[in-house]
Parts: sequence; C-alpha cells; structure tokens
Amino acid sequence: MMELPFYALILSFIIHLQKKGFRRLISWGPLIALSLISFIVTCMVKCHLAWWPPESFWPCASMVVIMIELNIILYNFFQSSFLGPGLVEIGWKPKHLEEKIFLQYCNICLSYKVPRSHHCRKCQRCVMKMDHHCPWINNCVGHKNHANFFFFLFITPIACLHAIAILVPSTYRCFYRNYYYFYGTMNDIIVDLSSVWFIFSMMAVGMAVGVVISVGSLFVIQLKVILKNETGIETWIREKANYRKREKGEGDFIYPYNLGRWNNLLMTLNIGNWGKMDGVWWPVREDCHQYTLTVEQIQQKCEKRTRSVLFVVHRKYSGSYLPVTFGCRTCYCQPCFDEPRLKVKEGERVLVTRLRRNWLYGEKLFLSEVSHVQKKEKRQRGWFPRQCASRSSEKFDLPANPHHPQQLETHLHGDGDDAANGVDVDIERLNVVADEKFLNKKVL
Ligand SMILES: [Zn+2]
Ligand SMILES: [Zn+2]
Repeated sequence: MMELPFYALILSFIIHLQKKGFRRLISWGPLIALSLISFIVTCMVKCHLAWWPPESFWPCASMVVIMIELNIILYNFFQSSFLGPGLVEIGWKPKHLEEKIFLQYCNICLSYKVPRSHHCRKCQRCVMKMDHHCPWINNCVGHKNHANFFFFLFITPIACLHAIAILVPSTYRCFYRNYYYFYGTMNDIIVDLSSVWFIFSMMAVGMAVGVVISVGSLFVIQLKVILKNETGIETWIREKANYRKREKGEGDFIYPYNLGRWNNLLMTLNIGNWGKMDGVWWPVREDCHQYTLTVEQIQQKCEKRTRSVLFVVHRKYSGSYLPVTFGCRTCYCQPCFDEPRLKVKEGERVLVTRLRRNWLYGEKLFLSEVSHVQKKEKRQRGWFPRQCASRSSEKFDLPANPHHPQQLETHLHGDGDDAANGVDVDIERLNVVADEKFLNKKVL
C-alpha cells in the first residue's frame, strides 16, 4: 500500500516537469549534466555511509548539508532550463514609432530587437539580454534565468569540492583497508567498498575534479562580466566599438549599462528594486541613452556589410558537415561545428563576411534583393566550401540592412525624410540624431 503514494508522487512530479517544459531536458546536454550530478552524488553518499555512518549528530548534519547542496544545484539547474531567458514578444515595436530607426529588426521573429536582445539560432527567437545559448541546460541564458545560472555555477564547484573531500579519503582508506585492519588502532575507521564501488568512486573523483575546473572557470568568467553588467555578446560589441573607425565628432563609445559593481551585481541577480526590470528598457549611465548600444550595433553591422565581398556560386554544395567531394583538407579544416552550413547552388550570390582557408561564411542574396524588388525572403547564412564560389567583380549597391523595413523602404524609394534619408545619411547621422534626441531626456 505504501507503494501507491510513492508512484503517485513520482507521477505528479513528472506531470509538473511536463508542464514546465520537460522536453527541454531531452537533449544530450541536460542528460549528460544530470547523469554526472547523479553519479557523483551517489558515489559521495555511498562513501559517506561507509566511512561515516549517520549514527550521531555530525554525520547526520553532514548528510543534510549534502542534500541541501544537491537541492540548490537541481533547483537552479531546472529553473535555468525551464524558466528560460525571457523572449521578445513577436511583432514587438517601440511605443514611439519614430524610434524604430535606432533598433535592429529581426526578420525571423518579425519584430524589432529590444535593447540588449539578440536572436538565438537554436531557440529560433529573440532573447532578452542574451548572454549565450547553453547546451548544458538546452536553453539560452538571459534576462530571467541569469541569476539561477549564476547560482548554479557558484554552488556546483563548492559541492564538487565537498564530494572530493569525502571521496578521496574514503577510497584511500578502502585501498589500504588491510593495513588499517591489521596495524591500525581501534579508532581507525575501515572503509569497505566492493571493487565496483571502489572503481566508481575513483571515477567520481576524476569527474568532480573536471567539474571544479570547468564550471569554476565558467563561474569566474561570469562573475567578471556580471560585475561590468555586460553579457558575453556585449563584451564583444564593446571591444569592436573600440576598434571601429569613428566619424568626426562622434566621440568614444561609452558602454551604457555599467552602473558600478554593486549595482551591476544586484541587477543581474534580480535583488531588491533591480528585480523589477521588464527586460526591454534598462537603467543607463547619465551620459548615455536607451539607444546608445543599439545605434553602435547598427553602425558595426553596416561597417561589416561594407567590408563584405560578393561571391558567385559555380558549384553546388548540399550543406553537409562532411563534404567528401571537396577533398580531405576541406573536410579536415572545418570551421566551428556549432555554426550552420549554407546550402548553395550554381548561379546564386553570397555576401561573404568571414574567410577561412577552405571555407567562406556569408549570407545568401536572393534575386529580389539584387534587383531591389521585394524583401520577404528568410535570411540564410552559414559556411560553405571555398571551392564552390569565386569573387564577383559585379558592382552591387546593397542596402545597409535589407531586413530592416524602414531602411529598405528609404533605400528603394529615396524618401526625403531627414532622419532616414537614404542609408548613408542614416548611418552617418544615426548617433548624432540619437544623442540629440535622447541624451537630455531619459526614455525610461
Ligand atoms: Zn528573432
Ligand atoms: Zn538559445
């Protein structure tokens, strides 16, 4: 009869997980992470019971500490995975429509990107204050789950050090148990593990050391960016801004969200009033405004597009990760496996932005874009073998961002409006217009 409530409990827990987005866990990352946690904890408890059975207060207290650590780890892991980073509403646009020119447009979500958001290829949505897509939680880390992810990174190495502190002396005493048995004193504890548990415990030590090093390093990196109130992507944008050739009178780029270490930490961990952020608008420094970063991003994108080179495809590529017909070197010297491959066929045009010895990275141009007729095609970007295409001498006047409806519109129709008068004027003046408009009035 006792079994029934137990199974009902398990069932209700599974239903609860299902409601929370259980499918997030059905991926190699969460499955490996959860298996690793279970394995280390099981070996840790087994050794603890063999070495220090909970027969008095202190061993019981030690077991309670292990369980608390495990609960904090699992709670933050599941929260990071299920809660997610917070997604930008489909079709979102700013309240004052004239402010659209200061924002990027996402052609997949069909919405303007709110400040600090980015489109995640894996999640297929624009993510609020996106830090990175984490395969271990099979979700993005961003506005809503950054604090949980940070606590997970903080507690996991501590719990693993605790595991090492139990596993190492236990396996040592188990290995020399005959010595302790014959030559030890009465007070010496003899740990008796079967050979299978002994091997498992040794493996658990290795895994725990690996977790301490890898997760601990990730924690240090996260702590550094959180204290600056930067995400990994924003660090990259700020560094590029420092190297970007700036227009006359444009001034240096000031990162707008750095409000001092303490405020930055409280904001990321959603503590106190800082926990009321909506993920769209953020507090900024006094000498910046809401669009300081987005304008910089648009300018960087435009500069990147002016540096890009047009290639014409003369050989078909299927998008395979192992294109054997292109030779061993192409297969062997692969770009990052995490990035997509671009399927191309003869006659297509690709705007290349990154070059490797055997691979090119670019965005496919559709006939509609080349002839400037319409803009409804979905963006297709990725790597393809260099042998597929050759550089084109064709003159091609590309809009700064063909997926930004307003910019495309002005490019197509040559609208005489001052703030969006063609792409060149738009880009040169974007910062000045934004500064004049917002610097003395807070958007928040
Ligand atoms: Zn998007
Ligand atoms: Zn993602």
